[in-house]
Amino acid sequence: MRVGIGYDSHKFTAGRKLILGGVEIPHPQGLAGHSDADAVTHALIDALLGAAAMGDIGRMFADTDPRWKNADSLHLLNQAYLAIVEDGFQFVQADITVIAERPTLAPYVEQMQEKLANALIAPASAVSVKAKTNEGMGFIGRGEGIAVIAVATLNHSDTPRASGGLVGPDLV
Ligand code: MG
Repeated sequence: MRVGIGYDSHKFTAGRKLILGGVEIPHPQGLAGHSDADAVTHALIDALLGAAAMGDIGRMFADTDPRWKNADSLHLLNQAYLAIVEDGFQFVQADITVIAERPTLAPYVEQMQEKLANALIAPASAVSVKAKTNEGMGFIGRGEGIAVIAVATLNHSDTPRASGGLVGPDLV
């Protein structure tokens, strides 16, 4: 079993759609970013890549690469998932906390879970999305941006411990 953590933050800007967890949410402002700036999906990607020790989202999808300009982050999530599977990992579950003063995200949480799980070829019950405010404090409290924390667990089909012994790189 492997555990990874991911974090992302984006600032609000005018003239962009607000997309979180693959769901378009009605709001006067969207998030600034090279792709669709879906901070929820980005944090989840980093959690997955972290669990697999496969680097981070910036390394896999450079924000200078025109291919990812306005990219659908669910597509990036699916790409990251496929890379992880290719390395012998299976996705187990993820838990995500979105910290945003506004808009109210509770009505969209279920849709986010479904969209994220779908990109991971997993049941919606494998992905938890929770939304909270920052009690008016700091950049989040002032409505300047949002932050997201994600944790994901993976299984590996060929873990050294499955052999029953302590196997390290210097012992094999
Ligand atoms: Mg991001």
